[in-house]
Amino acid sequence: MIEHIYLDYAATTPVSDIALAAAMPFYKTVFYNPSSTHALGQKSAAAVERAREKCAAAIGACADEIYFTSGGTEAINWAMSQARTSGKKRIAVSTIEHDAVLACAEALKSVGFIIDYVKPDAQGIITPEAVENAVTEETALCCVMTVNNIVGTIQPVKQLAAAAHKKGALFFTDAVQAVNSLELNVKEINADMLAVSGHKFYAPKGIGFLYVKRGVKIPPLLKGGEQEKGLRAGTLDVPSIVAMGEAIELAADNRNKYTDRASELSAAFLNALDYGTPILCNQKTADILSVVFEGINGGRLAVALSLAGLCCSVGSACSAGSATPPRTLSEMGVEHPECAVRFSFGSCTTLSEVKNAAAIVNETVKRLNSGK
Ligand code: PLP
Repeated sequence: MIEHIYLDYAATTPVSDIALAAAMPFYKTVFYNPSSTHALGQKSAAAVERAREKCAAAIGACADEIYFTSGGTEAINWAMSQARTSGKKRIAVSTIEHDAVLACAEALKSVGFIIDYVKPDAQGIITPEAVENAVTEETALCCVMTVNNIVGTIQPVKQLAAAAHKKGALFFTDAVQAVNSLELNVKEINADMLAVSGHKFYAPKGIGFLYVKRGVKIPPLLKGGEQEKGLRAGTLDVPSIVAMGEAIELAADNRNKYTDRASELSAAFLNALDYGTPILCNQKTADILSVVFEGINGGRLAVALSLAGLCCSVGSACSAGSATPPRTLSEMGVEHPECAVRFSFGSCTTLSEVKNAAAIVNETVKRLNSGK
């Protein structure tokens, strides 16, 4: 059996030892329901609140502004549902958002909203001017992600929030791909809402949170209980919440080391590649890299690479079944977006892995180019 090399950390990461160790007692020893008012339940509740404080501290928020969710998609759905209660009828959304944002925009359209789409420039950046042109006095919400999941572009979210606020719109940012590489401060950005997903930064899958600025009112997501201030009913996943608290603190502590390492890995990988045109934008994180291999369909190449021992992807795992190339690339005007493959590096990736991965890519591309 082949030992696969994994270069798909933007799809998901393993749970770190520290996060796992922190979560373990809450499966068996301290298994109590955090909503129980008795002394044992309060042990679980205290752990949840400690984790909430860690999540808040990692993004410069206050603990009462953090609402736990089942991950990024849920946080996005919740944030965008805010527009329904605003009394306004427009939203502005960048065209390079994750499918969760774009699908929520379509859902708003079906109930009468007008969607103003904001395109990126050739560098994959949503400019403040583009947002200013798209946002009107009637815009409830402007949505632009912090880091793009296909090419890693870092958006100027502080300036974008200011542009949205000028016209009275709220600003929501999907920061799901940002936590490992960027220092996030919601007060500095002046974001009204921000979404985070644990499994992108070495916490378990199925856990995340939505930051909601004090004073911004969001509608209830799930009815039937008093959890999360009565806005998201349902017993909390204490082990995952505890793990996420540890993981986000660790991500913040290790950020410089992480980004240096990702730059080194990405450079070594590119250096060893004989084929392909990397999409290297001016402002990007080092851990996400899309490469266009002209003449070879990206989906076909990703399958061939997997068979040869390298796991990477064409775009986001959520749209892996789709035959269309990543929208981000076509929106940026990249030529042959259908020939792109995404490689993403993580804290477990080694230099020898990226060199071996590049050798697999070289061999596979050469073989597919020769028609074999
Ligand atoms: N937003 C971005 C930018 C993502 O990359 C992803 C996951 O790939 C999501 C949202 C969805 O997050 P989750 O998998 O936690 O639902």
